[in-house]
Amino acid sequence: MNRILLKLKESALVPLLLLLITIPVAHFGYNAFSPTVKDLISLAPYIVFTAAATLSLVYGRLRVLMTLLTLVTAYWSFTTLLSTVGQSWGKFSIEMVFNSVTILGPLNIVLFAFWQEKGSMVTDLPTKLMVLGAQVFAIWLVCEYQHQPTLFFMTQMIWPSLHPDWVNVSPIAYYIFIIAFLAMSGLMLWQPSTINAALFSALIILFIVSQQLLIPGYLSVFMFLAGLLLVGAIIHETFNMAFKDDLTGLPGRRALNEQLAKLGRNYTIAMMDVDHFKKFNDTYGHDIGDQVLKMVAAKIRRVTGGGKAFRYGGEEFTILFPNRDVQYALPHLETVRETIANYAMKIRDDNRPKDDQTGKNKRGKKAKQDSSTVSVTISIGVSQREGANKTPEQVVKAADDALYRAKHAGRNKVST
Ligand code: GH3
Ligand code: MG
Ligand code: MG
Repeated sequence: MNRILLKLKESALVPLLLLLITIPVAHFGYNAFSPTVKDLISLAPYIVFTAAATLSLVYGRLRVLMTLLTLVTAYWSFTTLLSTVGQSWGKFSIEMVFNSVTILGPLNIVLFAFWQEKGSMVTDLPTKLMVLGAQVFAIWLVCEYQHQPTLFFMTQMIWPSLHPDWVNVSPIAYYIFIIAFLAMSGLMLWQPSTINAALFSALIILFIVSQQLLIPGYLSVFMFLAGLLLVGAIIHETFNMAFKDDLTGLPGRRALNEQLAKLGRNYTIAMMDVDHFKKFNDTYGHDIGDQVLKMVAAKIRRVTGGGKAFRYGGEEFTILFPNRDVQYALPHLETVRETIANYAMKIRDDNRPKDDQTGKNKRGKKAKQDSSTVSVTISIGVSQREGANKTPEQVVKAADDALYRAKHAGRNKVST
């Protein structure tokens, strides 16, 4: 639960702040610009959409690419619509285009957000493009043949009491936006990630620009922001893939190496290793082993005293204390060791491996009880930069030697 909140904050905070900052920019700032700058601003979304589309293709982010296509279509339709007010659109009406974008836009954003990337892009992309193409064709058909029931459906007032006066989009579009908001909120709780936060922002931005279409500035400035958030999300996620460990969410070995290279002349390194973890895996199974590693990582992450935690690899972790000596770090490491040793993690019996004889016996004995607890301990070795240990590699080696001593002294100990 805590981890979800943390990830939510990490992925949604920046988009939320930027959305809030953009409101006054669009509202008051835009009018201060000269006409040339305004022309440039109206091109800005296309530039950032192109950058985002290129990144999506390079990194295989089809969900982002399809949202971009949805946004480009909306942006192009809205700008065309605004620049041709008063002109005849033949069989297409301005109202029809506005309604199509506000009804299909949110639908597409949700559809592509939930449509997971599977298989290869070569098979995936054409299918998704066809879904978009079919919609454009359907709109053309409705207009060409003036299909009255559809035209009526798109504007009809259903449940008028639910459709507040300040809402400019048609009731159908408004209800679809609400369902889309709920669906995207669910997605954020289920899989909080920077990309999902950016896709959610795209939905919010589509609603904002549909609402404020007649106020100059909103359309270009907010669409630019949508593209920017998508670019940022792809870069952030790609960066995370390289630097963050997937199981525990802690920064991994690569991030540690980068930090080690940046250390000054004074620092302390702690190496830690879960005790008898091989036996633990053999008894409870690899899945519960993974759960325990997550728990251990969560406790290590919360180390006090300014320590930075990393997953060194397997069941081994590292904590860095920049600008601190061993004496300073010791009490904080003691606390981590104690917290983990005292923590009893609940596990469900039916998670245990089916062929595990001890598990079966236990289940037999206490058939009514559906959960029991497990606990592990860790050993810690600490060293600081001093004397012969001048490079981070030498200090890591010294901490490793200290860890070896902690293991030999009986485990569940901190050694220097
Ligand atoms: P010691 O107290 O001496 O450290 O004993 P140990 O059994 O922990 O030592 P060893 O290094 O021999 O074993 C580490 C085990 O950790 C091996 C492997 O089964 C387990 N392990 C490593 N990475 C993972 C992981 O990502 N998930 C799970 N479930 N187990 C892991
Ligand atoms: Mg080990
Ligand atoms: Mg171990």
